[in-house]
Amino acid sequence: MEPEPTYVILMGPPASGKGTQAERLQELLDLPHVASGDLFRYNLKNETELGRRAKVYMDKGELVPDDVTIAMVLDRLSQADANKGALLDGFPRTVVQAEALDDALAEKGNGIDLVLNIRVSEEELIARVTGRRLCRQCGASYHVKFNPPKEPGVCDKCGGELYQRDDDTEEVARKRLDVYEAQTKPLVEYYEEEGLLIHIDGEKSIDEVTTALREAIENNL
Ligand code: AMP
Repeated sequence: MEPEPTYVILMGPPASGKGTQAERLQELLDLPHVASGDLFRYNLKNETELGRRAKVYMDKGELVPDDVTIAMVLDRLSQADANKGALLDGFPRTVVQAEALDDALAEKGNGIDLVLNIRVSEEELIARVTGRRLCRQCGASYHVKFNPPKEPGVCDKCGGELYQRDDDTEEVARKRLDVYEAQTKPLVEYYEEEGLLIHIDGEKSIDEVTTALREAIENNL
């Protein structure tokens, strides 16, 4: 018999460090990192129909419609490497998405095991977003001031070129934060009611946040 799959959700506003932390937790959890934003960016890069549809919303800092997003993520979760579960990042972002995920997992007798909510103040988030740089090749994330690469513009891990996301301008970031407050924050309550949520202080150093997340995982999984 295969062991039960494990599903962990990393929640938090844009630029709260979800992607950076997910990369670090992957090894501990031994689960694939499933990031809806990365899946959309992959589709954009490859100029798929899904990518073209998503771009309209992403450029404005709005959420891609639930039906499109849910289908894309559930498809990813049905792939072989996700048989053992997944570390979800950026999904779900609405109550409708959370319910669809619960239903899809319940169909196979599974459910969410743990939700980690990274909390960061709005001003700190804006500073982080506008300085964020990503690697075109491997997706690794940096910050020009808080987590700079050894050589400006070059990825430490793979030597790839670093770039700034189109939606990481202050204007679009403020819009994304408004969207987070209105549409994603209600999920905190949703998972709190299910007794699955743990809050993590995301304003500490990257290493300290990783430690707090590790402890939460080790004590609660
Ligand atoms: P992220 O990389 O998680 O910050 O996502 C970048 C953009 O992709 C968001 O601003 C949305 O436009 C879109 N997106 C990512 N995940 C979702 C989701 N779960 N639901 C709707 N839109 C999403």
